[in-house]
Amino acid sequence: MLFQILVFKDGGTYLQFILRHLKKILIFIILIIIFSGITLASVFKERSHIQTKYILSTMITIKAFGNNSKQAVSEAMIRIEQIEDLMSLYKEDSDIWKVNNAIAGAKVKVSEETLEVVNKGLYYGDISNGNFDITIKPLSELWGIGTENQRLPTPNEIEKLLDTVNYKNVELDRDNKTIRLVADNTGIDLGAIAKGYAGDEVIRIMKENGIKRAYGDLGGNIVVLGKKKLGLLDYIKSNFKKEKTYMDQDWRIGIQDPYGVRGSYMAIVKVSDKAIVTSGIYERNFEEGGKIYHHIIDPFTGYPADNGLLSATIICNNSTDADALSTGVFVMGEEKGLKLIESLPSVEAILINNKKEVRITSALKENIKIVDTDFKLID
Ligand code: AMP
Ligand code: MG
Repeated sequence: MLFQILVFKDGGTYLQFILRHLKKILIFIILIIIFSGITLASVFKERSHIQTKYILSTMITIKAFGNNSKQAVSEAMIRIEQIEDLMSLYKEDSDIWKVNNAIAGAKVKVSEETLEVVNKGLYYGDISNGNFDITIKPLSELWGIGTENQRLPTPNEIEKLLDTVNYKNVELDRDNKTIRLVADNTGIDLGAIAKGYAGDEVIRIMKENGIKRAYGDLGGNIVVLGKKKLGLLDYIKSNFKKEKTYMDQDWRIGIQDPYGVRGSYMAIVKVSDKAIVTSGIYERNFEEGGKIYHHIIDPFTGYPADNGLLSATIICNNSTDADALSTGVFVMGEEKGLKLIESLPSVEAILINNKKEVRITSALKENIKIVDTDFKLID
């Protein structure tokens, strides 16, 4: 019966047919493989553009996906340079430089965006009970951490400057767009918030250019727009595991291991349309007498915050807020910091202390995976 099926009417077998047309059949199969390969690749691949530049004293990488990605990335880089020109401590003629170098008590005209960032800085000064303080400049300059002038100051030098740090000495006139420093020797340093603002501007520019998917890494301040497209390898892996797969996936962001080399991570969080900003002792520091002195200063003691925290990560919808909060919470410490974050809607935190204990806000539980088991999640 079976044999009969395999015999053609003219008496030839299928085998003979295949052998006769082998070349054509092989070409046909190869064409199908090439065609389906191209089709499959195009499903997983998307036009994209990536650029890295040193701005705001840090390495900035932006990657955008979609047709307009090149234009969007270059506009975003230009915008960050503009923000540096407005808010840099060091660039003569920046808004901040002008405010800091004005005659005592003078009102200085500034741009709308500087006004906005300073205003937010003052707000975070309030809600962090002064632990976040944009008038940290005299102290951050004294320590000079991350600069060639970094050194351990004497207790007397610190003591003398403590009174100069108070964000309430900043007077803001929104109507006339001016800033006035009401006390002598006060100075503004937006180092803990300007990069955050730049991150929000990156996302705004991406959206303006019709980009649906992008990420920015502004020296560890991460912003992600939309979701990540599933890669071919991930697709194969999840099919292998018989998992349900979606073409759009949350971005997976590594949380820096505070003890590890830059780029090594101890946990992964899954996010989309979020800012993820970390303040940590590992960013800029020096060691003396077996002690690490880092760049985040407690405005009340004048010394680098020393409360057992190694890093504070904030995840929320806005990168300016995340930046200010990560610094503020880092100074406030675990207990007060977590309490503040829990009181804010749609803001999450990951706090790591020097016992390798990790505390997170409740809503993060589903989306975090500790990958280095030396670190323990504490309830
Ligand atoms: P970040 O890395 O965002 O936590 O910001 C740290 C930078 O902000 C430092 O390099 C200082 O320029 C500035 N800074 C340090 N301590 C404070 C503080 N307590 N409040 C606000 N800004 C600070
Ligand atoms: Mg910050």
